Amino acid sequence: MNEHDSQKMEAMLVKDGYVRAATAGEADLVVLNTCSIREKSYHKAVSQIGRIPKDREGRKAIVAVTGCVVSHAGESILKKFPHVDMVLGPDHIAALAELAKKAEAGQERFVRMDFSDLSDYEFPSQILTGQKQVKGYVTIMKGCDNACSFCIVPFTRGAEVSRSASEIVDEVNRLADEGVREVMLLGQNVNSYGKGLRDGMSFSKLLRRIDEETSIARLRFTSPHPKDLSPALVEEYVRSRKLCPHIHLPVQSGSSRVLKKMRRSYTRDVYLKKVESLRRAVPDVAITTDIIVGFPGEAEEDFEKTQSLVREVGYDASYSFAYSPRPGTEAAGFPDDIPPGVKQERLTRLQDLQAELSLAKNRSRIGRVEEVLAEGPSLEGLGQLTGRTPHGRIVNFDGGPESVGAILKIEITCASAYSLKGEAFGPIH
Ligand code: SAM
Ligand code: SF4
Repeated sequence: MNEHDSQKMEAMLVKDGYVRAATAGEADLVVLNTCSIREKSYHKAVSQIGRIPKDREGRKAIVAVTGCVVSHAGESILKKFPHVDMVLGPDHIAALAELAKKAEAGQERFVRMDFSDLSDYEFPSQILTGQKQVKGYVTIMKGCDNACSFCIVPFTRGAEVSRSASEIVDEVNRLADEGVREVMLLGQNVNSYGKGLRDGMSFSKLLRRIDEETSIARLRFTSPHPKDLSPALVEEYVRSRKLCPHIHLPVQSGSSRVLKKMRRSYTRDVYLKKVESLRRAVPDVAITTDIIVGFPGEAEEDFEKTQSLVREVGYDASYSFAYSPRPGTEAAGFPDDIPPGVKQERLTRLQDLQAELSLAKNRSRIGRVEEVLAEGPSLEGLGQLTGRTPHGRIVNFDGGPESVGAILKIEITCASAYSLKGEAFGPIH
């Protein structure tokens, strides 16, 4: 989501006549888009603010700090860093170019961090920069109405607001017309989409409309909440020709005791039953997840339940994080009683387990032919492209720029825990 916000800001500024500077030291306007989901990202953002060059050839650059850090520390950033001209919360980035002009004209420094509701919020659309873009993001809702006890998002991004389905369908079509092949629908809790809309729209109905009314080749979304994984959504996985057979379904913990303290509103069993119903409908669906280790009070026994759940689900991949208390959240009031060394050790054990599972899953693809959407040059080296299978697996293969944007048939020849290698033998479409 932050990446998407950064792209939007860049595209808006380019449209307004700005060009990208090679370094922050050369820039007239420096924008730092921040994340505060974990303590580490918050500290990183604050130290980056301190490092922003204060002047450019003797002339002061305009400095804007945007994003989630601003939402809970806006005034203090302005006080602590005299070289910052403006701090803008996530709902104000659309006004960046206009506000930069105000700052340049020497008006006072300001903070804008309140949240807009549907009546005065314009969902930002992706502005394409003219370069070939294979993947696009479409924001379908903002904010979150849940209250997971560890999470700062409801404070940094406000309450849930859903965008109108027609606007979303139009944007997907516009991106498809401009050459985008795959769209990722974005929201903090995408599958509770529709709340507050008067037309009875739901997430599964939205997927159906995108399937029937757009020409996009592939559709994905992130992140759904397990409690809102409805039978209607499972049905869309079976029906839809565009929806990729992959779900990122954050579990956070495999212990029902910890899940309760996290206020996740599901138990281990409920989560496993949801996974089972999805697997029954789409047997080879790829499942990935987010996990927090070292939540307050997490005993070794709770952590072992997380490990056993990871094995039982057989995740294709997982993102795991050491818990850090976030200001204003309920869990910040719990004693952060798991020593950093124990959190790190649990994280390592979990990541080793995941690497083992991912490697076995990836090896099972060797010899198969996959449909890979070629996304662009690979980091593997010159003459190599990278892309993804419908299940979300990364594949590197020999290929040139002419193939970017095509869906290719690739025979898988090699596998690691994180990616596959293969040989292309022809485009599909
Ligand atoms: N909406 C998603 C959900 O319901 O799971 C979560 C989105 S959050 C932006 C991304 C991930 O950051 C979470 O799934 C969680 O694993 C992690 N996270 C959030 N707060 C955290 C904290 N206080 N400490 C460590 N990890 C945290
Ligand atoms: Fe945070 Fe996700 Fe929970 Fe919302 S549902 S409070 S974004 S973890």
